Amino acid sequence: RNGFKKESFILSVDVGTTTIRCNVFDKGAKIRGTCSSKVNYFPSSMLFIHATKSPYAGVKMSQIVSLGIATQRGTFTTWDRTTGRPFHNFISYQDLRAIDSVTSWNGSYTMKAVQGAMTLLYLVSRQKRFLAASVLVFSPQQVTFRLLWALTHYTQLRQAVAEDTCCFGTIDTWLLFKLTKGEVHATDYSNASSTGMFDPYQMCWSGPLFSMLSLPFSILPKVEDTIHSFGSTHSSIFGVSIPIMALIADQQAAMYGECCFDVGNVNITMGTGAFVDINTGSKPHTSAAGLYPVVGWKIGEEVVYLAEGNAADTGTAIKWAQGLELFSDVQETSAMAYSVADSDGVCFVPSFSGLQAPLNDPTACASFMGLTPSTNKCHLVRAILESVAFSVRQLYQTMLRETCIPVTKIRVDGGVCTNDFVMQLTTDLIGQKLARPVHHEISCRGAAFVAGLGVGFWKDKEELKRLHTADQMFVPRQAAQSGTELGVVSAEYEAVLRSWEKALQRSMGWYS
Ligand code: ADP
Repeated sequence: RNGFKKESFILSVDVGTTTIRCNVFDKGAKIRGTCSSKVNYFPSSMLFIHATKSPYAGVKMSQIVSLGIATQRGTFTTWDRTTGRPFHNFISYQDLRAIDSVTSWNGSYTMKAVQGAMTLLYLVSRQKRFLAASVLVFSPQQVTFRLLWALTHYTQLRQAVAEDTCCFGTIDTWLLFKLTKGEVHATDYSNASSTGMFDPYQMCWSGPLFSMLSLPFSILPKVEDTIHSFGSTHSSIFGVSIPIMALIADQQAAMYGECCFDVGNVNITMGTGAFVDINTGSKPHTSAAGLYPVVGWKIGEEVVYLAEGNAADTGTAIKWAQGLELFSDVQETSAMAYSVADSDGVCFVPSFSGLQAPLNDPTACASFMGLTPSTNKCHLVRAILESVAFSVRQLYQTMLRETCIPVTKIRVDGGVCTNDFVMQLTTDLIGQKLARPVHHEISCRGAAFVAGLGVGFWKDKEELKRLHTADQMFVPRQAAQSGTELGVVSAEYEAVLRSWEKALQRSMGWYS
């Protein structure tokens, strides 16, 4: 129908924090082949390429008409443009090596002076971007200070910058560079805006930030639309050359894969970290509480912004508990939590890499509080799962308060959303229905959607919406009055939530 042979497919890749997934999608958005492997942070290992080389159920690489790549945000490497050799391993968004510089910059007189100047500019001009800059604080999850750290510590990297042979890139940029055998050094707006070094108001790399920190502009990739002819995979890789039509950051890809195309659509991801994203339409949202405005996607004239809050360590905490042998399989955790009436007064603070919005304290520690001799494994597991739902509620509440946009629908994805206990508690605590998709490869699906639109494999967003399969709904015991309100918390959880908030306060400032 679209000028393709009947059997054509879209290949998409999602480089998450824990897993790399590759899926082949057919015209009905059904997954026709899949593979996955664990993520490692050595740039030289291009696992997904090897994985996709293996033939999928009758699909030949020559039938793939477009490739889309979704990637975790804020993880980067640097490399030599001429040799293609990286100067160091990927430095992950969870890495805390630059935390000291982040803390001291945030408390510095320079920052205070910048914030003061921005407030003044806002008062004079009333331009929202100055208001956003007036509350600017750096976070270790942003690329900025980890890149500064790398520039300070790697001599070869500094030398390459001086000789103008250095490339910087988040994972999408690195993969693009490698897949095109060094032909293309680019990224898209969604990935760029998730580095903390991009000005979403001006839609370009932030000049004032680069000047303030003496960061080199020359290492940056070109920023392109989310759907763009980025280049083609070198024929030596897959045997054929496949057009790379889309790069998109994973959270934004999840929004797209869930068809959250309209203002007020919300996507909650419960993966390694928890994210709450709301579509704010064609304007970036200005926040004073640490909600971050990011570009959702830019496709031609259409620019969609998201306001985003995240809690870094929700899934991490579950994995950590598994490592401690509180359970042997994550699938057991929901039943374990349900097997006890409550957490026996135990609270867990999931803060292995600090607390994010709305508390924004990189010096907070992770902790269990309220342990007693009667505490057993099920209580501990329940406290951990409750902390995921509590964190999501806190982010959701911040989002409602800050954006004042009525929420029209909420979809949930990520590994932890397969947990019924977490899902039911979350829906009860926020007072809104939650739609859990039956398929769990949402970011991959989003990357496939944009890559498919790019070559006319699918026509438009309406066609994508029609491909959406029925979700499993979780319904709150007591619904919120409207899309701008939070649900009423039951009496039993009212007290538990208060204890948890106290535990957060006690964990704050631990490393300061
Ligand atoms: P990412 O995309 O960040 O790599 P995923 O979305 O795959 O992460 O989610 C992985 C996380 O989900 C892991 O921390 C894992 O422990 C957790 N997880 C998966 N299934 C369950 C479950 N049934 N209950 C609780 N946690 C789960």
